[in-house]
Amino acid sequence: MKAKLGKFSNTTETCGCSCSSSKSVIYEPNFNSAELIAKELYQVFRKCWMLSEVNYQLAVSLNASGSIVVNEERVGKDFESSVDLGEEIKFNSRIRGTEDWAPPRFQIIVNVHPPHKRDLVVAAQNFFCAGCGTPIEPKFVKRLRYCEYLGKYFCDCCHSYAESCIPARILTMWDFRKYYVSNFSKWLLDSIWHQPIFNLLNISHSRYAKAKELDRVKEIQEQLFHIKKLLKTCRFAESALKEFEQVPRHLTDELYLFSLEDLVRVKKGLLAPSLKDILHASLAHVAGCELCQGKGFICEFCRSTAVIFPFQITTCRRCSECRACFHKQCFQSSECPRCARITARRRLLKSFPSAAT
Ligand SMILES: [Zn+2]
Ligand SMILES: [Zn+2]
Ligand SMILES: [Zn+2]
Ligand SMILES: [Zn+2]
Repeated sequence: MKAKLGKFSNTTETCGCSCSSSKSVIYEPNFNSAELIAKELYQVFRKCWMLSEVNYQLAVSLNASGSIVVNEERVGKDFESSVDLGEEIKFNSRIRGTEDWAPPRFQIIVNVHPPHKRDLVVAAQNFFCAGCGTPIEPKFVKRLRYCEYLGKYFCDCCHSYAESCIPARILTMWDFRKYYVSNFSKWLLDSIWHQPIFNLLNISHSRYAKAKELDRVKEIQEQLFHIKKLLKTCRFAESALKEFEQVPRHLTDELYLFSLEDLVRVKKGLLAPSLKDILHASLAHVAGCELCQGKGFICEFCRSTAVIFPFQITTCRRCSECRACFHKQCFQSSECPRCARITARRRLLKSFPSAAT
């Protein structure tokens, strides 16, 4: 898409980030008006733009770290509802950049910037403020302010020493300290704060030994994910399912997908107890519910009478072929009894097609 809608475009107005808000006209769309139509068009356009930006970023982040996945569909969907359109249109309707300078892009950065000398970074920025494109005289370079999120330098209009956690530092070092960021980055990070766009599947304790809290949460989350599927099929499980509303839905509908807010709650030790409560309520339901018990499995290896379930992830596992559930200890993938039965039956049907009728 050539017509990229840049955030925070050039012109000196943006540089007056703090003052522009006071100058600005209050945007009050009149329904049935041209503004409304423009807004709708813009919304559609922006969705395409968001997806292409995130796709691009996805490729970059996968190459760089191999483990961070951005859920592009979700970004598109959630931004649809969360950002004030009027405000955004005001920013985006300006012309994007010049030949030597372009405004910062809306991108999810998951790599920590290596420390570079100020002079080198500012030279790489062609001696422009990274936020508004104002040329910087060499003698003023030392006055520029560093944005930890974008790894660039900003003038004092574009950087007011706002502080934020940095996703890359959380994801790669489990570092939740706050760092100084530009006004643009602060806005960006605040706007993705609740978005579940960080897939932590491949991030384990081996990656950072300190994140035991995260492993605990991931373990409970996995059980909740499976047990929720079971509960959804049970007509008596209404109250057990109600418990799931204590936490954001994505935490139990999807695996390993977290927002920055979730991660902060993991770090503070707040998320695991909530998830555990939900799990206890669910387990209590399944244990006492005939309908749910009827959906369990009997381990075909040991033929124990105890009913087992796929959500018992520490003791049970599923055959990847036929999806039947067995004790982990009993299971040998080479000889799943159910798969063996299915294969034998297929073979029989092949040699005696008439047996099918
Ligand atoms: Zn600036
Ligand atoms: Zn039930
Ligand atoms: Zn068994
Ligand atoms: Zn099988």
